[in-house]
Amino acid sequence: MKNFTLSIIVPVYNEEKNIDPFLNRILEVIKKYQYEIIFVNDGSTDRTEEVIKTYCQKNKNIKLISFTRNFGHQMALFAGYKFSKGEAVVSIDADLQDPPELIDEMIEKWFKGKKIVYAKRQQRQGESFFKLITARIFYKLINFLSDVPIPQEVGDFRLLDKEVVDYLNNLQEKPEFLRGLVAWPGFETDYIYFKRDKRFSGKTHYSLSKMINLALNGITSFSIKPLRLSTYFGFLVSLLAILIVVFKSVQHFVFHQGDWLPGWASLFFSIVFLGGVQLIMIGIIGEYLGKIFKEIQNRPNFLIKEKINL
Ligand code: UDP
Ligand code: MG
Repeated sequence: MKNFTLSIIVPVYNEEKNIDPFLNRILEVIKKYQYEIIFVNDGSTDRTEEVIKTYCQKNKNIKLISFTRNFGHQMALFAGYKFSKGEAVVSIDADLQDPPELIDEMIEKWFKGKKIVYAKRQQRQGESFFKLITARIFYKLINFLSDVPIPQEVGDFRLLDKEVVDYLNNLQEKPEFLRGLVAWPGFETDYIYFKRDKRFSGKTHYSLSKMINLALNGITSFSIKPLRLSTYFGFLVSLLAILIVVFKSVQHFVFHQGDWLPGWASLFFSIVFLGGVQLIMIGIIGEYLGKIFKEIQNRPNFLIKEKINL
């Protein structure tokens, strides 16, 4: 099966200095295949778009989708999938943290019939201790909460068979957490392992708040367990309250011991504690309500300003 097209999807947001080295490196790997490279410019404010356009003029297999503004990394990937034509579709970052040389290995696994080939990070370089720890906690948490196992230490560097891409393109929901959506149907999966390099140029665009948003979106898109846990916890706390009342009443009326009045510290504590618990639970409900709100509004996931070679 040598006769296939390989689509490469590259979301880019302010990566002007990375485009040249990225293309040099990836073309070296993929020029032996029939390929297309789709850059999805996610509202860059630097020269990213111009740089890509000069390449598009020289090479028709290099294509560009430009968003009207920044819609986020997940939406950029999603747009790339929508327009990809290949039988195998690889998504990769433009900052050379994902080594393009691995694509050959991914294709080999795909030849063997795997529908999804993830590149799994064995080691990460140049990323803060904080990022590593939060990433680990996030994957533990999401796997505890979610009904489908979501692979750990796996980013958005992966190969998808056309079948998987078609499934993604036919989804009716907002694709806020592609990693989960890719794992959900249970297609045959394999892994290759790599060391994640440092960013070639520039800084990460994933701020703490963006990471928390992604995490919350991931959890609430794949599980209603937080709601159920709230219910359980509510029952537990109510039970505790009843037990305390029973205990105190028996102490007072049967054994004529204990004081009713000096207990203000425990009273104060329980009011504050319950207030906190209630706020958290309202927040959890709110997360889901917000999701329903967004689905009902049904606004487009992204808007395209310009397409080149597509
Ligand atoms: N990116 C994007 N839109 C955004 C943020 C990032 O298209 O709003 C792109 C970015 O240009 C890069 C990839 O997504 O190609 C991964 O982003 P980044 O390297 O900042 O994330 P990290 O590797 O630190 O997780
Ligand atoms: Mg990066």
